[in-house]
Amino acid sequence: MNFHEYQAKELFAEYGIPVPAGRVARSPEEAVAAAKALGGNFWVVKAQIHAGGRGKAGGVKLCKTLDAVQDAAKALLGTTMETYQSAGRKLPIDVVLVTEASDIAKELYLSMLVDRATRSVSFIASAEGGVEIEEVARTNPDAIQHLDVNYVQGLQPYQCRKLGFALGLNAKQTGQLTKLMLGLFKLFNERDLALVELNPLAIDTAGNLVVLDGKVNSDDNADFRQPKLVALRDVRQEDEAEVLATQYNLNYVTMDGNIGCMVNGAGLAMATMDVIKLEGGEPANFLDVGGGATKERVTEAFKLILSSDKVKAIFVNIFGGIVRCDMIAEGIIAAVKEVGVKIPVIVRLEGTNVEKGKEILASSGLAIQPADDINDGARKAVAAAA
Ligand code: GDP
Ligand code: MG
Repeated sequence: MNFHEYQAKELFAEYGIPVPAGRVARSPEEAVAAAKALGGNFWVVKAQIHAGGRGKAGGVKLCKTLDAVQDAAKALLGTTMETYQSAGRKLPIDVVLVTEASDIAKELYLSMLVDRATRSVSFIASAEGGVEIEEVARTNPDAIQHLDVNYVQGLQPYQCRKLGFALGLNAKQTGQLTKLMLGLFKLFNERDLALVELNPLAIDTAGNLVVLDGKVNSDDNADFRQPKLVALRDVRQEDEAEVLATQYNLNYVTMDGNIGCMVNGAGLAMATMDVIKLEGGEPANFLDVGGGATKERVTEAFKLILSSDKVKAIFVNIFGGIVRCDMIAEGIIAAVKEVGVKIPVIVRLEGTNVEKGKEILASSGLAIQPADDINDGARKAVAAAA
Protein backbone atom coordinates (compact mmCIF):
# COMPACT_ATOMS: atom_id res chain seq x y z
CA MET A 1 0.00 0.00 0.00
CA ASN A 2 1.23 3.50 -0.87
CA PHE A 3 0.94 6.62 1.25
CA HIS A 4 0.82 10.33 0.65
CA GLU A 5 3.85 12.50 1.36
CA TYR A 6 2.08 14.19 4.28
CA GLN A 7 1.28 10.80 5.83
CA ALA A 8 4.88 9.66 5.35
CA LYS A 9 6.13 12.81 7.04
CA GLU A 10 3.81 12.24 10.01
CA LEU A 11 5.32 8.78 10.39
CA PHE A 12 8.83 10.22 10.14
CA ALA A 13 8.09 12.82 12.81
CA GLU A 14 6.84 10.07 15.12
CA TYR A 15 10.26 8.43 14.86
CA GLY A 16 12.30 11.59 15.40
CA ILE A 17 13.19 12.07 11.75
CA PRO A 18 13.45 15.81 10.94
CA VAL A 19 10.75 17.15 8.60
CA PRO A 20 9.70 20.77 8.01
CA ALA A 21 6.52 21.83 9.79
CA GLY A 22 3.51 21.41 7.51
CA ARG A 23 -0.29 21.29 7.32
CA VAL A 24 -2.68 19.80 4.81
CA ALA A 25 -5.37 21.85 3.05
CA ARG A 26 -8.40 20.91 0.99
CA SER A 27 -9.25 24.41 -0.26
CA PRO A 28 -7.29 27.57 -1.16
CA GLU A 29 -8.66 29.23 2.02
CA GLU A 30 -7.39 26.35 4.14
CA ALA A 31 -4.02 26.62 2.39
CA VAL A 32 -3.74 30.32 3.31
CA ALA A 33 -4.78 29.55 6.89
CA ALA A 34 -2.16 26.78 7.00
CA ALA A 35 0.57 29.13 5.77
CA LYS A 36 -0.45 31.77 8.33
CA ALA A 37 -0.42 29.21 11.13
CA LEU A 38 3.03 27.98 10.07
CA GLY A 39 4.33 31.56 10.04
CA GLY A 40 7.37 32.83 8.16
CA ASN A 41 7.32 34.20 4.63
CA PHE A 42 8.41 31.30 2.42
CA TRP A 43 6.25 28.21 1.86
CA VAL A 44 5.93 25.21 -0.44
CA VAL A 45 2.51 24.08 -1.69
CA LYS A 46 2.66 20.45 -2.79
CA ALA A 47 0.15 18.29 -4.67
CA GLN A 48 -0.56 15.12 -2.69
CA ILE A 49 -0.72 12.22 -5.14
CA HIS A 50 0.58 8.67 -5.05
CA ALA A 51 3.44 9.36 -7.45
CA GLY A 52 6.76 11.12 -7.49
CA GLY A 53 7.92 13.38 -10.28
CA ARG A 54 5.60 16.13 -9.09
CA GLY A 55 8.31 18.78 -9.20
CA LYS A 56 8.77 18.30 -12.94
CA ALA A 57 5.00 18.21 -13.51
CA GLY A 58 4.36 21.50 -11.70
CA GLY A 59 3.02 19.96 -8.50
CA VAL A 60 5.56 21.61 -6.16
CA LYS A 61 5.16 25.36 -5.90
CA LEU A 62 7.47 27.67 -3.95
CA CYS A 63 5.53 30.68 -2.63
CA LYS A 64 6.76 33.91 -1.08
CA THR A 65 3.40 35.55 -0.39
CA LEU A 66 0.04 34.38 0.98
CA ASP A 67 -1.52 35.31 -2.37
CA ALA A 68 0.93 32.98 -4.08
CA VAL A 69 -0.05 30.21 -1.64
CA GLN A 70 -3.71 30.76 -2.46
CA ASP A 71 -3.03 30.76 -6.22
CA ALA A 72 -0.92 27.62 -6.00
CA ALA A 73 -3.61 25.76 -4.04
CA LYS A 74 -6.28 26.99 -6.45
CA ALA A 75 -4.25 25.82 -9.45
CA LEU A 76 -3.70 22.34 -7.98
CA LEU A 77 -6.79 21.36 -5.98
CA GLY A 78 -9.58 19.68 -7.89
CA THR A 79 -7.36 18.95 -10.87
CA THR A 80 -5.54 15.77 -11.85
CA MET A 81 -1.85 15.25 -12.37
CA GLU A 82 0.11 12.86 -14.53
CA THR A 83 3.84 12.46 -13.90
CA TYR A 84 6.51 10.21 -15.40
CA GLN A 85 5.97 7.97 -12.38
CA SER A 86 2.16 7.71 -12.49
CA ALA A 87 2.12 4.92 -15.11
CA GLY A 88 -0.02 6.86 -17.57
CA ARG A 89 -2.71 7.61 -14.98
CA LYS A 90 -4.06 11.03 -14.08
CA LEU A 91 -4.22 11.15 -10.28
CA PRO A 92 -6.72 13.41 -8.51
CA ILE A 93 -5.36 16.19 -6.30
CA ASP A 94 -7.76 16.29 -3.35
CA VAL A 95 -5.26 17.60 -0.82
CA VAL A 96 -2.23 19.87 -0.86
CA LEU A 97 0.49 19.95 1.75
CA VAL A 98 1.65 23.40 2.81
CA THR A 99 5.08 23.37 4.45
CA GLU A 100 7.54 25.98 5.55
CA ALA A 101 10.14 26.16 2.76
CA SER A 102 13.74 25.24 3.41
CA ASP A 103 16.75 26.96 1.91
CA ILE A 104 18.59 24.11 0.29
CA ALA A 105 22.37 23.86 0.10
CA LYS A 106 22.44 20.29 -1.24
CA GLU A 107 20.02 17.50 -2.11
CA LEU A 108 20.87 13.91 -1.10
CA TYR A 109 19.01 10.68 -1.77
CA LEU A 110 18.32 7.96 0.80
CA SER A 111 16.04 4.97 0.51
CA MET A 112 15.37 1.70 2.28
CA LEU A 113 13.95 -1.48 0.88
CA VAL A 114 13.87 -5.24 1.23
CA ASP A 115 16.65 -6.47 -1.02
CA ARG A 116 15.86 -10.01 -2.13
CA ALA A 117 19.29 -10.50 -3.68
CA THR A 118 21.12 -9.97 -0.38
CA ARG A 119 18.16 -11.13 1.75
CA SER A 120 18.41 -8.04 3.88
CA VAL A 121 16.89 -4.69 4.53
CA SER A 122 19.12 -2.35 2.59
CA PHE A 123 19.80 1.36 2.34
CA ILE A 124 20.60 3.04 -0.94
CA ALA A 125 22.07 6.52 -0.83
CA SER A 126 23.59 9.14 -3.04
CA ALA A 127 25.14 12.56 -2.56
CA GLU A 128 23.48 13.50 -5.84
CA GLY A 129 19.80 13.41 -4.94
CA GLY A 130 16.90 15.45 -6.27
CA VAL A 131 14.62 15.18 -9.24
CA GLU A 132 17.35 13.75 -11.52
CA ILE A 133 18.13 10.69 -9.34
CA GLU A 134 17.12 8.20 -12.07
CA GLU A 135 19.58 9.93 -14.40
CA VAL A 136 22.36 9.64 -11.78
CA ALA A 137 21.65 5.91 -11.41
CA ARG A 138 21.85 5.50 -15.18
CA THR A 139 24.89 7.58 -16.01
CA ASN A 140 26.93 7.53 -12.80
CA PRO A 141 26.10 4.33 -10.88
CA ASP A 142 29.26 4.72 -8.78
CA ALA A 143 27.61 7.71 -7.11
CA ILE A 144 25.09 5.30 -5.53
CA GLN A 145 25.99 3.74 -2.16
CA HIS A 146 24.57 0.45 -0.83
CA LEU A 147 24.38 -0.70 2.78
CA ASP A 148 22.97 -4.07 3.82
CA VAL A 149 21.68 -4.53 7.36
CA ASN A 150 22.45 -7.83 9.03
CA TYR A 151 19.18 -9.38 10.10
CA VAL A 152 20.44 -10.52 13.51
CA GLN A 153 22.62 -7.52 14.45
CA GLY A 154 20.30 -4.86 13.13
CA LEU A 155 21.53 -1.49 11.89
CA GLN A 156 24.78 -0.50 13.62
CA PRO A 157 25.75 3.16 14.17
CA TYR A 158 29.19 2.58 12.63
CA GLN A 159 27.50 1.60 9.36
CA CYS A 160 25.62 4.90 9.32
CA ARG A 161 28.82 6.84 10.02
CA LYS A 162 30.59 5.03 7.20
CA LEU A 163 27.75 5.95 4.86
CA GLY A 164 27.83 9.57 6.07
CA PHE A 165 31.51 9.88 5.26
CA ALA A 166 30.99 8.25 1.86
CA LEU A 167 28.32 10.88 1.16
CA GLY A 168 30.79 13.64 2.04
CA LEU A 169 28.95 14.76 5.19
CA ASN A 170 30.75 16.54 8.01
CA ALA A 171 30.85 15.20 11.57
CA LYS A 172 27.71 17.02 12.73
CA GLN A 173 25.72 15.90 9.70
CA THR A 174 26.98 12.34 10.05
CA GLY A 175 25.66 12.34 13.61
CA GLN A 176 22.29 13.58 12.30
CA LEU A 177 22.30 10.95 9.56
CA THR A 178 22.98 8.20 12.10
CA LYS A 179 20.05 9.26 14.27
CA LEU A 180 17.83 9.58 11.20
CA MET A 181 18.77 6.14 9.87
CA LEU A 182 18.27 4.43 13.22
CA GLY A 183 14.83 6.06 13.44
CA LEU A 184 14.03 4.99 9.89
CA PHE A 185 15.12 1.42 10.58
CA LYS A 186 12.87 1.26 13.65
CA LEU A 187 9.96 2.71 11.68
CA PHE A 188 10.55 0.26 8.83
CA ASN A 189 10.44 -2.76 11.12
CA GLU A 190 7.70 -1.69 13.52
CA ARG A 191 5.31 -0.65 10.75
CA ASP A 192 6.06 -3.49 8.33
CA LEU A 193 7.18 -1.21 5.54
CA ALA A 194 8.43 -2.41 2.17
CA LEU A 195 9.96 0.81 0.90
CA VAL A 196 10.94 4.23 2.18
CA GLU A 197 12.42 6.89 -0.05
CA LEU A 198 13.70 10.29 1.06
CA ASN A 199 14.37 12.44 -1.98
CA PRO A 200 15.50 14.99 -1.41
CA LEU A 201 17.04 14.47 1.96
CA ALA A 202 18.31 18.02 2.02
CA ILE A 203 21.15 19.81 3.73
CA ASP A 204 19.79 23.28 4.45
CA THR A 205 21.88 26.45 4.39
CA ALA A 206 22.41 26.14 8.16
CA GLY A 207 24.08 22.79 7.46
CA ASN A 208 21.37 20.55 8.95
CA LEU A 209 19.71 17.49 7.45
CA VAL A 210 15.99 17.79 6.76
CA VAL A 211 13.63 15.46 4.87
CA LEU A 212 11.81 17.44 2.17
CA ASP A 213 10.02 14.58 0.44
CA GLY A 214 9.07 11.09 1.56
CA LYS A 215 7.58 8.11 -0.14
CA VAL A 216 6.45 5.13 1.91
CA ASN A 217 5.09 1.77 0.84
CA SER A 218 3.93 -0.89 3.30
CA ASP A 219 3.75 -4.67 3.02
CA ASP A 220 0.08 -5.57 2.40
CA ASN A 221 0.61 -8.98 4.00
CA ALA A 222 0.96 -7.20 7.33
CA ASP A 223 -2.26 -5.17 7.01
CA PHE A 224 -3.93 -7.34 9.66
CA ARG A 225 -1.59 -6.00 12.33
CA GLN A 226 -1.23 -2.43 11.06
CA PRO A 227 -4.75 -1.00 11.45
CA LYS A 228 -3.40 2.55 11.80
CA LEU A 229 -1.68 2.31 8.43
CA VAL A 230 -4.69 0.70 6.78
CA ALA A 231 -6.81 3.64 7.97
CA LEU A 232 -4.58 5.96 5.90
CA ARG A 233 -5.49 4.25 2.63
CA ASP A 234 -6.64 6.61 -0.13
CA VAL A 235 -8.45 4.48 -2.71
CA ARG A 236 -8.96 7.50 -4.98
CA GLN A 237 -5.27 7.26 -5.83
CA GLU A 238 -5.54 3.60 -6.78
CA ASP A 239 -6.55 1.90 -10.01
CA GLU A 240 -10.35 1.43 -9.90
CA ALA A 241 -10.31 -2.08 -11.30
CA GLU A 242 -7.62 -3.13 -8.81
CA VAL A 243 -9.62 -1.74 -5.90
CA LEU A 244 -12.68 -3.68 -7.08
CA ALA A 245 -10.57 -6.81 -7.44
CA THR A 246 -9.43 -6.71 -3.82
CA GLN A 247 -13.09 -6.72 -2.74
CA TYR A 248 -13.50 -10.11 -4.44
CA ASN A 249 -10.10 -11.42 -3.40
CA LEU A 250 -8.95 -11.53 -7.00
CA ASN A 251 -5.29 -10.92 -7.74
CA TYR A 252 -5.58 -8.35 -10.47
CA VAL A 253 -3.17 -5.88 -12.05
CA THR A 254 -4.11 -3.54 -14.89
CA MET A 255 -1.74 -3.55 -17.85
CA ASP A 256 -1.40 -1.74 -21.18
CA GLY A 257 -2.50 -4.29 -23.81
CA ASN A 258 -5.87 -5.33 -25.26
CA ILE A 259 -6.17 -9.05 -24.44
CA GLY A 260 -8.00 -9.69 -21.19
CA CYS A 261 -6.70 -12.74 -19.32
CA MET A 262 -8.60 -14.90 -16.86
CA VAL A 263 -6.40 -17.58 -15.39
CA ASN A 264 -6.20 -19.64 -12.22
CA GLY A 265 -2.88 -19.69 -10.43
CA ALA A 266 -0.27 -16.92 -10.47
CA GLY A 267 2.30 -19.08 -12.26
CA LEU A 268 -0.11 -20.02 -15.04
CA ALA A 269 -1.23 -16.38 -15.26
CA MET A 270 2.36 -15.26 -15.82
CA ALA A 271 2.98 -18.05 -18.35
CA THR A 272 -0.20 -17.02 -20.18
CA MET A 273 1.00 -13.44 -20.44
CA ASP A 274 4.38 -14.63 -21.70
CA VAL A 275 2.81 -16.78 -24.40
CA ILE A 276 0.50 -13.93 -25.49
CA LYS A 277 3.57 -11.73 -25.91
CA LEU A 278 5.39 -14.52 -27.72
CA GLU A 279 2.49 -14.61 -30.20
CA GLY A 280 2.86 -10.88 -30.74
CA GLY A 281 -0.01 -9.70 -28.50
CA GLU A 282 -0.20 -7.57 -25.36
CA PRO A 283 -2.08 -8.61 -22.19
CA ALA A 284 -4.55 -6.09 -20.77
CA ASN A 285 -4.22 -7.45 -17.28
CA PHE A 286 -2.83 -10.03 -14.91
CA LEU A 287 -5.66 -11.93 -13.25
CA ASP A 288 -5.44 -14.93 -11.00
CA VAL A 289 -8.92 -16.07 -9.97
CA GLY A 290 -7.34 -18.45 -7.48
CA GLY A 291 -7.31 -22.18 -7.01
CA GLY A 292 -10.79 -22.35 -5.55
CA ALA A 293 -12.55 -20.29 -8.21
CA THR A 294 -16.34 -20.35 -7.88
CA LYS A 295 -19.03 -19.39 -10.37
CA GLU A 296 -19.45 -16.03 -8.61
CA ARG A 297 -15.75 -15.21 -8.76
CA VAL A 298 -15.57 -16.12 -12.44
CA THR A 299 -18.49 -13.74 -13.08
CA GLU A 300 -16.82 -10.95 -11.10
CA ALA A 301 -13.57 -11.60 -12.95
CA PHE A 302 -15.34 -11.20 -16.30
CA LYS A 303 -16.92 -7.94 -15.17
CA LEU A 304 -13.55 -6.69 -14.05
CA ILE A 305 -11.88 -7.50 -17.36
CA LEU A 306 -14.73 -5.89 -19.29
CA SER A 307 -14.65 -2.72 -17.19
CA SER A 308 -11.87 -1.55 -19.51
CA ASP A 309 -12.92 -0.66 -23.06
CA LYS A 310 -9.36 -1.31 -24.20
CA VAL A 311 -10.03 -5.06 -24.04
CA LYS A 312 -10.69 -6.51 -27.52
CA ALA A 313 -10.61 -10.25 -26.71
CA ILE A 314 -10.62 -12.44 -23.61
CA PHE A 315 -8.44 -15.49 -23.13
CA VAL A 316 -9.62 -17.83 -20.39
CA ASN A 317 -6.90 -20.30 -19.48
CA ILE A 318 -7.88 -22.66 -16.70
CA PHE A 319 -6.23 -25.72 -15.30
CA GLY A 320 -8.74 -27.74 -13.33
CA GLY A 321 -6.73 -29.08 -10.44
CA ILE A 322 -8.68 -28.20 -7.35
CA VAL A 323 -11.53 -26.69 -9.36
CA ARG A 324 -13.46 -28.79 -11.88
CA CYS A 325 -13.58 -27.75 -15.52
CA ASP A 326 -17.35 -28.32 -15.74
CA MET A 327 -17.91 -25.90 -12.88
CA ILE A 328 -15.65 -23.33 -14.58
CA ALA A 329 -17.55 -23.81 -17.85
CA GLU A 330 -20.82 -23.11 -16.05
CA GLY A 331 -19.25 -20.04 -14.47
CA ILE A 332 -18.09 -18.76 -17.86
CA ILE A 333 -21.53 -19.28 -19.39
CA ALA A 334 -23.26 -17.57 -16.49
CA ALA A 335 -20.83 -14.67 -16.69
CA VAL A 336 -21.09 -14.27 -20.46
CA LYS A 337 -24.90 -14.28 -20.18
CA GLU A 338 -25.03 -11.91 -17.22
CA VAL A 339 -22.44 -9.43 -18.42
CA GLY A 340 -23.38 -9.59 -22.10
CA VAL A 341 -19.91 -10.08 -23.54
CA LYS A 342 -19.65 -8.70 -27.09
CA ILE A 343 -16.00 -9.44 -27.77
CA PRO A 344 -14.45 -12.82 -28.70
CA VAL A 345 -13.89 -15.20 -25.78
CA ILE A 346 -11.29 -17.92 -26.24
CA VAL A 347 -11.32 -20.72 -23.67
CA ARG A 348 -8.72 -23.32 -22.95
CA LEU A 349 -9.63 -25.86 -20.31
CA GLU A 350 -7.45 -28.68 -19.05
CA GLY A 351 -7.59 -31.02 -16.09
CA THR A 352 -10.36 -32.51 -13.99
CA ASN A 353 -13.62 -33.12 -15.91
CA VAL A 354 -12.23 -31.38 -18.98
CA GLU A 355 -14.43 -33.31 -21.45
CA LYS A 356 -17.56 -32.44 -19.54
CA GLY A 357 -16.47 -28.80 -19.41
CA LYS A 358 -15.86 -28.63 -23.16
CA GLU A 359 -19.24 -30.24 -23.83
CA ILE A 360 -21.02 -27.68 -21.68
CA LEU A 361 -19.32 -24.81 -23.53
CA ALA A 362 -19.95 -26.33 -26.99
CA SER A 363 -23.66 -26.86 -26.31
CA SER A 364 -24.17 -23.44 -24.72
CA GLY A 365 -24.91 -21.76 -28.05
CA LEU A 366 -22.65 -18.88 -27.03
CA ALA A 367 -19.85 -17.68 -29.33
CA ILE A 368 -17.04 -19.14 -27.26
CA GLN A 369 -13.99 -20.31 -29.19
CA PRO A 370 -12.39 -23.43 -27.76
CA ALA A 371 -8.59 -23.78 -27.76
CA ASP A 372 -6.57 -26.99 -27.63
CA ASP A 373 -3.71 -25.74 -25.50
CA ILE A 374 -2.09 -22.56 -24.17
CA ASN A 375 -0.27 -21.79 -27.45
CA ASP A 376 -3.37 -22.36 -29.56
CA GLY A 377 -5.41 -20.19 -27.20
CA ALA A 378 -2.90 -17.36 -27.20
CA ARG A 379 -2.68 -17.46 -31.01
CA LYS A 380 -6.46 -17.30 -31.34
CA ALA A 381 -6.70 -14.47 -28.79
CA VAL A 382 -4.03 -12.43 -30.54
CA ALA A 383 -5.76 -12.94 -33.89
CA ALA A 384 -9.16 -12.06 -32.42
CA ALA A 385 -7.86 -8.86 -30.81
CA ALA A 386 -6.07 -7.70 -33.97
P1 GDP B 1 8.81 15.16 -6.36
O1 GDP B 1 9.22 15.88 -7.61
O2 GDP B 1 7.44 14.55 -6.47
O3 GDP B 1 9.82 14.18 -5.92
O4 GDP B 1 8.64 16.29 -5.23
P2 GDP B 1 9.69 16.86 -4.15
O5 GDP B 1 8.98 17.10 -2.91
O6 GDP B 1 10.90 16.00 -4.09
O7 GDP B 1 10.09 18.26 -4.75
C1 GDP B 1 10.78 18.42 -5.97
C2 GDP B 1 11.86 19.45 -5.84
O8 GDP B 1 11.31 20.67 -5.37
C3 GDP B 1 12.95 19.11 -4.84
O9 GDP B 1 13.94 18.27 -5.39
C4 GDP B 1 13.46 20.48 -4.48
O10 GDP B 1 14.44 20.88 -5.42
C5 GDP B 1 12.25 21.37 -4.60
N1 GDP B 1 11.75 21.64 -3.24
C6 GDP B 1 10.92 20.88 -2.49
N2 GDP B 1 10.76 21.40 -1.27
C7 GDP B 1 11.52 22.53 -1.23
C8 GDP B 1 11.81 23.51 -0.22
O11 GDP B 1 11.35 23.48 0.93
N3 GDP B 1 12.64 24.53 -0.58
C9 GDP B 1 13.20 24.62 -1.81
N4 GDP B 1 14.01 25.62 -2.07
N5 GDP B 1 12.95 23.71 -2.78
C10 GDP B 1 12.15 22.68 -2.50
MG1 MG C 1 11.00 13.88 -4.37
